[in-house]
Amino acid sequence: MILEGKTALVTGGSRGIGRAIALRLAGMGARVAINYVSKPDAAQAVVDAIGAAGGEGALYKFDVADSAAVNDGITKIIEDFGRLDILVNNAGITRDGLLMKMKEESWDQVLDTNLKGAFNCIKAVNRPMMKQRWGRIVNISSVIGFLGNAGQANYAAAKAGLTGLTRSVARELASRNITVNGVAPGYIDTDMTRDLAEEVKEKVLAEIPMRAMGSVEDVAGAVAYLVSEDARYVTGQFIHVNGGMFMG
Ligand code: NAP
Repeated sequence: MILEGKTALVTGGSRGIGRAIALRLAGMGARVAINYVSKPDAAQAVVDAIGAAGGEGALYKFDVADSAAVNDGITKIIEDFGRLDILVNNAGITRDGLLMKMKEESWDQVLDTNLKGAFNCIKAVNRPMMKQRWGRIVNISSVIGFLGNAGQANYAAAKAGLTGLTRSVARELASRNITVNGVAPGYIDTDMTRDLAEEVKEKVLAEIPMRAMGSVEDVAGAVAYLVSEDARYVTGQFIHVNGGMFMG
């Protein structure tokens, strides 16, 4: 229970990778605020699972792309739990399409959620974490942010942007005992990847030295390390969890 007494916020904690991270942090003793935007039942199921395992979790609905809503949500979390020690920026979406056909709206939605969403949340936790002189921020990126991908210019740009955001804020907050790192998953079996066409999946698997998709627990394990005391001297880094697909 190495996170006993700590409070964590996992954005997009209702499904997939975020759900696994929320359960993992709760299992390590943290009280976990689960953020979601559209699926209250899935989010409630995560809180129930945490409770059933003897942990403590609560739901916070807000759109990470909406800075006013993020501020209200994070203020409420701090009121409810008295503190916020760990932020995992996990909420993310895809709106794929070749650049030639990509609508401005698809660009904006992905940048607003995947990149500005992280900015909004970091900005809202910045001051409270500085006051506490302890904090852990983990941004969930993607292998695509490092490799690029045809049909994902918006997603790749947002995730690559997270690299600059992570490294800059890591430098700003390091002296306050706040680390800012990233985890870059490869292809993980979740709702986001489940609908990929079989031929696309086969092509992807051919590019993965381990010849398999990763699991949500693989990503949660990397986050668990970064928020632990073992990683106290690690900041501005990305852990690649991708079966060897990209070696950064
Ligand atoms: P997912 O299963 O589609 O779940 C997405 C989560 O984000 C849901 O909890 C959703 O909430 C939440 N969300 C979406 N837009 C939001 C918004 N505007 N405000 C708040 N929450 C929002 O996705 P996933 O596969 O677990 O991906 C999680 C993260 O890992 C993303 O950042 C993704 O880019 C990254 N990633 C995934 C893979 C992969 O292979 N799956 C690979 C690399 C990186 P609701 O349930 O309420 O809709």
